Amino acid sequence: MSEKMNAVVKTKPELGADWLQVDVPELKPDWVLVKVKAASICGTDVHIYKWDPWSDARIGAHNLPQTLGHEVAGEVVEVGKGCKRIKVGDSISAETHIYDPGDLTSLLGAFHVGNNMKILGVDTNGSFAEYFAVPESVCWVNDTSIPPELATIQEPLGNAAYAVLGEDNDVAGKTMLITGDGPISLFAVGVARACGVARIFQFGKYDFNMEIGKKMGADYQIWTNKTTAKERKEFVLDHTDGFGVDIALEMVGSQDSIDDCFDLVRKAGRVSAFGIPSDSPLPIDYANGIVFKGCQVHGVNGRKLFDTWYRNKNLLANLRIDPKPVITHMFTLEDYKKGFDAMLARPRFSAKVILFPEQAELDAAKKRFGIE
Ligand code: ZN
Repeated sequence: MSEKMNAVVKTKPELGADWLQVDVPELKPDWVLVKVKAASICGTDVHIYKWDPWSDARIGAHNLPQTLGHEVAGEVVEVGKGCKRIKVGDSISAETHIYDPGDLTSLLGAFHVGNNMKILGVDTNGSFAEYFAVPESVCWVNDTSIPPELATIQEPLGNAAYAVLGEDNDVAGKTMLITGDGPISLFAVGVARACGVARIFQFGKYDFNMEIGKKMGADYQIWTNKTTAKERKEFVLDHTDGFGVDIALEMVGSQDSIDDCFDLVRKAGRVSAFGIPSDSPLPIDYANGIVFKGCQVHGVNGRKLFDTWYRNKNLLANLRIDPKPVITHMFTLEDYKKGFDAMLARPRFSAKVILFPEQAELDAAKKRFGIE
């Protein structure tokens, strides 16, 4: 194997990233080296690409250069001496929350929010490259029936599934509000449908993405830019026998969306909090929205290791969910700028963008999607 590879590297604390030749990552004893088949662009990558205040505070210019990317599927080409479970030739995706196995929070089962956690492509070099390296402990072996362009989206699909299912997985026959029309909201609509949610309300504002939400299974869609909070409330109450929704997924992070969720969830219902506000802290109606309502609030940071992966694999491999409508663009990795441009455009005309280091992989994926 050559010692050098191509990668999308953040070099400067400003908009953009560079296509560079960098060293193939070194293998540590309990890590594996993976040849990337497909990688997808996450909202987090867009934050870093733009180098917004969050990136500056979270990563810091002093840690550049750093390879972007964390959502990925690839083939293991080398394993460290200490690896026991993962073998050369395995097709894997990476759980991007690289946990510290000795941390108490992790030992208590909450690996996804453990202390000393490092996030692939945020705290380490990422996967927008020909190769990347991760600890064996966060490798998820993919079902061979799942093609790379779907295997790579298991990570964000995991955010969606964890938000939908909560801690108790008690969603069948219930009603759910999902706010937003970005990729995770759209995946959440699909997971909710697959897991038996009886009535799905989606709040969004971009026609292109709301159309995808409809394909994923939303029953009722409300455009937040064309309605008032009062109108939205009337609609949801009218369609839930005046009760409110059992579960509300907050996936935007705006004041309006947060207010909608705490207002429209029924008494003793659940709000799953995923959206990240650009201004924090934000006011919420703590007494009426949470205390007097007996509302459960569920913070979603990542996925459950590896319960969410297991469920998603089963949903995908058994064709219980079809995430294809959410995949709107595919490019070679070298064309990453086109991918980021599609993600940055407003009004939105993209959801998930997949990048392929090899042209042949891109061609094969396009064939599976029935595009030229
Ligand atoms: Zn992500």
